[in-house]
Amino acid sequence: MEHAEILHRCFRCGYCKLPGNYADINCPAYLAYCFETYAPGGRMWLLRAWLDNKIEAGSRFAEIMFSCTACGNCVAQCAFPEFRDRLLLAFTAGREALLDAGTAPPSVRDWLTRIQNHGNAYGKPAKKSLEWADGLEIDVFDGQEYALFVDDTGIHEPRGREIARAVATLLTTAGISFGIIGKPCFSDGNDVKAMGETALFESLAEKNISIFNALNIGKIITLSPHSYNVLKNDYPALGGQYQVFHYTQVLAFAMGRLPLSADRPGLTVALHDPCYLGRHNADYASARMVLQALPGVTMVEMDRNRADALCCGGGGGNFFTDLLSGGDDTPARSRAREAAAAGAQILAVACPLCAIMLEDAVKSENLDKTISVREISEIVEGRMDLQGNAR
Ligand code: SF4
Ligand code: SF4
Repeated sequence: MEHAEILHRCFRCGYCKLPGNYADINCPAYLAYCFETYAPGGRMWLLRAWLDNKIEAGSRFAEIMFSCTACGNCVAQCAFPEFRDRLLLAFTAGREALLDAGTAPPSVRDWLTRIQNHGNAYGKPAKKSLEWADGLEIDVFDGQEYALFVDDTGIHEPRGREIARAVATLLTTAGISFGIIGKPCFSDGNDVKAMGETALFESLAEKNISIFNALNIGKIITLSPHSYNVLKNDYPALGGQYQVFHYTQVLAFAMGRLPLSADRPGLTVALHDPCYLGRHNADYASARMVLQALPGVTMVEMDRNRADALCCGGGGGNFFTDLLSGGDDTPARSRAREAAAAGAQILAVACPLCAIMLEDAVKSENLDKTISVREISEIVEGRMDLQGNAR
């Protein structure tokens, strides 16, 4: 197993499961189950015991290993800079070894099989891949400055489609030169890679890259931070060299071009930093710039914010494989309580997966009369005057 040589270096001191001020639990898997084996240090020791033939790879072991959301908190917090950058790489390598050994939880196997067979996580036919844009006045990419890449959730999930449509509407209204990709694309592969299915990831990426390159695409705007991460950081090694932007990074510099209304009621907004914009790519500013440009919006911060933000629990494929659900202390429910405690009326998110995870959590916590979860694109759209139909 790659990176096996770092496993014995873990002291199980436990800093990796906490935020920077040590005040809370910040590893989503440990938060949900409170067993040391779910914490990063416990994973290291479990993997080491397995490689030393001291334990067998049973179903419980597989559930633990695949429940990591790849949020990156442990990488940011581990007390040992000599090896902390490799923690997630080791967990991914461990999952790859488990997949090779034929040991993966059924929900993981099913999710990967759907992607393998259909090219998307929902098992939907490719012909449905442009339906999300039906009725919108947007062009197919044909040499515009940017191509818009929409992830599986934006394409196939009703809630994701609403968000994709809001983003496309904002880009159009701001006069951004962009087109949607007219051919069916494949899953971006970000979470497939995090789950250790390297061969499937490379196959997905190579198919997308051949579509992008045939169209001469140079700049890409993504709906999802997961797509942003993998297109920016992993596609170049496979021949996909693009300038990649999350939509908030483009919008942050185009807010002055939107017809924002000055007479909307005041709103108190807390931002949930997505792991793949924040910890993985160090952008804590763009989403805040967009929100701060909205007249009447007052921002508050949750206790855990920026590099200390708690993952919603949907990363690393868990949105689809659901290995952290159930109980009062799912990461999403903990986050919903934290947003309410911060006094927010709106919990703003910048990712379709976070939106769905946190909307469910707010309902489970009976907080839906106190706080609403809104994607940033929807908050902005709702504060524009559009042809007299402003919301
Ligand atoms: S902080 Fe690093 S050394 Fe300490 S338990 Fe976590 S992974 Fe192990
Ligand atoms: S990446 Fe996140 S979920 Fe996975 S072990 Fe590290 S802190 Fe826990």
